[in-house]
Amino acid sequence: MISEFDLIAKYFAKPATKADLGVGDDCALLRQTTGMQMAISTDMLVSGTHFFPDTDPRQLGHKSLAVNLSDLAAMGAQPIACTLAVSMPESNETFIAPFAEGLLALANQHGCELIGGDTTRGPLNICITVFGQIPTGQALRRDAAKPGDEIWVSGTLGDARLALAHMRQELQLEETQFQRVLPRMLKPTPRVELGIALRGIAHAALDLSDGLLGDLTHILDASHVGASINTDWIPMSKILTMQETSWRHQCTLGGGDDYELCFTAPPEKHDQVIEAGKRAGVTVTHIGKIEEETGLKLYNASGTLHQDNIRSFDHFAAQKK
Ligand code: ADP
Ligand code: MG
Repeated sequence: MISEFDLIAKYFAKPATKADLGVGDDCALLRQTTGMQMAISTDMLVSGTHFFPDTDPRQLGHKSLAVNLSDLAAMGAQPIACTLAVSMPESNETFIAPFAEGLLALANQHGCELIGGDTTRGPLNICITVFGQIPTGQALRRDAAKPGDEIWVSGTLGDARLALAHMRQELQLEETQFQRVLPRMLKPTPRVELGIALRGIAHAALDLSDGLLGDLTHILDASHVGASINTDWIPMSKILTMQETSWRHQCTLGGGDDYELCFTAPPEKHDQVIEAGKRAGVTVTHIGKIEEETGLKLYNASGTLHQDNIRSFDHFAAQKK
């Protein structure tokens, strides 16, 4: 077993490039930039709650940072640094080496420097804090949606929940289908470039971690508005399109872990939103509208849908287990 200090030195202490001081002292030092605000977010991943205890450590390293970068993306912030607090039952290098590799590969990809953290013994638990920068006043806040705004989502929704459904044996995918959707659950892509491209275009934004219905409600509550969503417009993978309607609804509306962005923008910026998606290399799809009247209405070509039924699908699925 490797000592705590050797472990930090070997896997986590990289020379600081952006920070004035990185790993090794009592604190790291970050420079303030005039005209910029610092966006800060923390997310914790607990073994057995947020990931299966036997998850591949490399993917876990990636996902732990990805879910945090996704929060920066949802504000339109440029990642600059992160800290990592980790507790684990033993300092086992066969776990730590690939975990650090997965995390640092994604960190490097986004110029997000690991500047410090804490390492202790305990049940496997990973807590990351990310720091990002954003021009003052340009953050995409949840309270900024306006009646008349178009509602958009990036990428496709529901594959992470579909993979989970297969793993829980709630439904049965073909093996090749399962292998296609599984990475959406294990290795999410934070939409950092899109968040930045939407500065000055989008009004409100958030990332989809708990499912579209629940997450969009956060925007509606914070902005004191309502919304209508056409479920026929919600983008999904071909594999999900092939599932029965109740599962399509459950995965796209109630399913978590997609880490796509959901955002609102005024209709006159429709073309600019599409351009921003192109610049960021991800599709963006218009799925509905912000309404003055509060509440979330769902409809499709055959009429109005009742949200209660959709939420209850999860209970139904849980009972079948
Ligand atoms: P202290 O006792 O002052 O809190 P530590 O011994 O916990 O210091 O950590 C020593 C240095 O290593 C600090 O700069 C800390 O930020 C860094 N560090 C500890 N654990 C990690 C980690 N998992 N990832 C990155 N840096 C870490
Ligand atoms: Mg410490």
